[in-house]
Amino acid sequence: MTDTLAIAPRFVIFSSYGNDSVALIQWAHEQNLEDVAVVFTDTGWAADGWMGRVEKAEEWAKSLGFVCHRTSSIGFRQLARKKKGFPTQRYQWCSYVLKIEPGLRWLEENDPNTRAVCLIGVRRQESQARESAPEWLPRSENHGGRVMLSPFADWVEEDRNVLIKHAGFEVLPHRSRECRCINANKSDMRGFSENDWKAVEKIEEEIGRPMYRPHRHLGAKGAKEMRKWANSSRGKYVAPNPSDAEAPDDFPDEDLFGCKPGWCE
Ligand code: SF4
Repeated sequence: MTDTLAIAPRFVIFSSYGNDSVALIQWAHEQNLEDVAVVFTDTGWAADGWMGRVEKAEEWAKSLGFVCHRTSSIGFRQLARKKKGFPTQRYQWCSYVLKIEPGLRWLEENDPNTRAVCLIGVRRQESQARESAPEWLPRSENHGGRVMLSPFADWVEEDRNVLIKHAGFEVLPHRSRECRCINANKSDMRGFSENDWKAVEKIEEEIGRPMYRPHRHLGAKGAKEMRKWANSSRGKYVAPNPSDAEAPDDFPDEDLFGCKPGWCE
């Protein structure tokens, strides 16, 4: 899946195959774009069942005449081992190592003349952090200086959902799950399966730290407690050791580039 393309793509969509990605692929199809490459950024840390969706969505994208690829990276587990810790909201080095760098590498290999236009599905309405997201950039640093186009920048969710329906997909009631994200909120975690929690527990045992910060989750420390917190009503969770809610963070103090719109939903 990482072979170099015979012909450089004219358009590149980095895709997690969540709602925004599906809508963007459908948009490219309805605009009659040609020579489109759809690239899945494989973090090696997808939630239970997500890779099945990726395969299905890749088949659909291929049926539209697009070429599908996957990037490779060290993977979330190995990255945590190497760093002897987990990324955090403040020090979110995972985004660069697992997504941006592999994406840039893919672009260098497959579009050496930097002619491709990179499409992203960011909407300003999504969050405060994205409310000033540009509609286009003549040189996007996160895309190796290529032109970046964000056709949904001013769209509302309903506009996007129309495209998802055109594509024949259901609108997912949750964010994409290509990563069991360190930014997962209560609602995301309620969607974690038994296998997801086991995977979190296993990597925590190996690394010797909780993946989610206790002080941000009423003192819930470790996968088992996080699961209870996620399934509790607002304000009802009580940690076995309430002082964990006050404990300062203890993690590697390195920030590379942080989470960038269009890479980590
Ligand atoms: S989805 Fe979350 S855990 Fe995965 S790379 Fe992005 S910020 Fe990090």
